[in-house]
Amino acid sequence: CGIVGYVGGQSALEVVLAGLQRLEYRGYDSAGAAVLADGGLAAAKKAGKLANLQKELAERPLPAGNTGIGHTRWATHGGPTDANAHPHLDNAGRVAVVHNGIIENFAVLRAELTDRGHELTSETDTEVVGHLLAESFSSCGDLAEAMRQTCRLLEGAFTLVAVHADDPDAVVGARRNSPLVVGVGEGDGDGEYFLASDVAAFIAHTREAIELGQDQVVELRRGAGVTVTDFDGAPADVRTYHVDWDASA
Ligand code: GLU
Repeated sequence: CGIVGYVGGQSALEVVLAGLQRLEYRGYDSAGAAVLADGGLAAAKKAGKLANLQKELAERPLPAGNTGIGHTRWATHGGPTDANAHPHLDNAGRVAVVHNGIIENFAVLRAELTDRGHELTSETDTEVVGHLLAESFSSCGDLAEAMRQTCRLLEGAFTLVAVHADDPDAVVGARRNSPLVVGVGEGDGDGEYFLASDVAAFIAHTREAIELGQDQVVELRRGAGVTVTDFDGAPADVRTYHVDWDASA
């Protein structure tokens, strides 16, 4: 339902949680977040309101990190439980993904992954994506390329945002029939970048935005900027625009 991603100089968890709060008005049944820190990936997710997730984080804090993603879920496949909440991780716990929409062919992909030895632990359509990203990343070593390879296998509507512990300065996203917007901030001079399903999530930080087109993959890399391609890797034009609506609305 609501998606936020961040890479920059601030606490990723704080930016992500504040962003999710700005998206609460859309309704949701669960919430979760993941951060990259100390060479690893840490995640927390809870059924119910954001307050439940915040309580969980107060009791079991995540390590501080500058790269992170978050999600508020409106369940379509699998009930609103902690296990079905996003982010979804691969079995090694190195990749985390959040998703809006529906992966229509998830049952086939799930069966194929199970045959290849993956253990799927939720009832969601989303979980296959974490496993597919992990597989592709282990062969190509590039999260944006792993996202492109994965998207070519997916049918349906999706906004996806993912991070990988082996590439801690990047957040990658993709979209088909579901919105995804990039926010470009100045941050600490090295730049900071936001990904969200709605500009409301990052308007407090920046009004420079990039609207992604249909079937595009975006990589946000700290210190390097924003790269957009189609699902086959062909570079796409990146045009920033200024968001001028009233943030208090
Ligand atoms: N289909 C996914 C699920 O049920 C994503 C739902 C959403 O858009 O929040 O987990």
